[in-house]
Amino acid sequence: MAEIVIKNLQKKFGDFTAVQSSSFTIEDGEFFMLLGPSGCGKTTTLRMIAGLELPTSGEIYLDGEEVGMKPASERDIAFVFQMFALYPHMNVRKNISYPLVSQGMSRADVRAKVAEVAGILGIEDILDRSVGGLSGGDRQRVALGRAIVRDPKAFMMDEPLGALDAEFREHMAEELRALHDRMNATTVYVTHDQLEAMQMGDKIVVMNHGLVEQFGTPQEIYDKPHTMFVAEFIGSPPMNFLPFDGEVKPGATTAKLDGQTFAVPQQHEAASGKLVLGVRPEHVTLSDSAKYRGEVLATEYLGTTQIITLETGHGPVKARTSSAQAAKVGETVGLDFNSRTLTLFNGSSGKALKSTLNEGSFGNG
Ligand code: ATP
Repeated sequence: MAEIVIKNLQKKFGDFTAVQSSSFTIEDGEFFMLLGPSGCGKTTTLRMIAGLELPTSGEIYLDGEEVGMKPASERDIAFVFQMFALYPHMNVRKNISYPLVSQGMSRADVRAKVAEVAGILGIEDILDRSVGGLSGGDRQRVALGRAIVRDPKAFMMDEPLGALDAEFREHMAEELRALHDRMNATTVYVTHDQLEAMQMGDKIVVMNHGLVEQFGTPQEIYDKPHTMFVAEFIGSPPMNFLPFDGEVKPGATTAKLDGQTFAVPQQHEAASGKLVLGVRPEHVTLSDSAKYRGEVLATEYLGTTQIITLETGHGPVKARTSSAQAAKVGETVGLDFNSRTLTLFNGSSGKALKSTLNEGSFGNG
């Protein structure tokens, strides 16, 4: 298995730049997610790593070797295109053994390898069945078997669960993750689904318009977003943004926003003018004594928690509270923000201001 290092990777299609100077490292054995909205350059990045697309500039290192200009066949990477793409006229065993037979491996070795892979996937009992009559889950396991059997350096997966219904998708996501934990194979996985990325990934790269917005563990990305784009793309409901005219100074633990003073994590940089206060819904609490006020617009019951939508002088705010919290539509209540978790953003650039909350996380990319 392999470490993959991406350095200043760029891809242009004519005048259009699909991927702009991306840099990140995928460590050996990681389950690594490329996440972002449609058209942000995820698939193009994946295809460049696999060798199906050549970069316009930049480098790709596979276990220390620069492979950016090498054809796919020389990279030893398995691209799991679409899990259901099986050879319909062959049985399960032949589908799985096909890559080995075409490499010229001996019959005995092929049999042993297929038995090993079938054991990993728990499909020993269906090896002699025709693929036509298999359930969706078994078809997917067979398709994975065909990728695993080659012992490639890494697996590339492009929205492999995209076509599945919600329940089956969740089941296969758990199975894929468990399979990864058994094999420890470096896996690069494209998705536009932030929940899937958070649940499955060891690390996530968040892309937007061809640019890497942030790269880190799911928790780093959730707790310490570097940009408003990331803060909004991750989390459901997303982070609340309250725009203010204000000022902060290095070393300050308060911010003056529209004349009101808010406690914030200790700031490391100076900023003034248009600032945006970012707060996650679970860090908003309703309190009678709080000076900052809002009117309850709606409540959404979710079982143990509820989402309360409030209108404030700075736009709507969503609070995730215990469903035991009383909130009546139309009443005006105080809002407290958990000061340790607040992020201030520069309102023009959308970038997070540096503070004790996010220190250390900006070295990542
Ligand atoms: P999606 O989830 O919709 O596939 P994505 O993030 O994977 O999105 P890419 O498929 O990498 O995005 O595409 C990035 C951009 O590059 C898109 O605007 C797409 O139209 C463009 N693009 C991709 N391949 C080509 C190509 N061969 N020629 C021209 N433009 C392309």
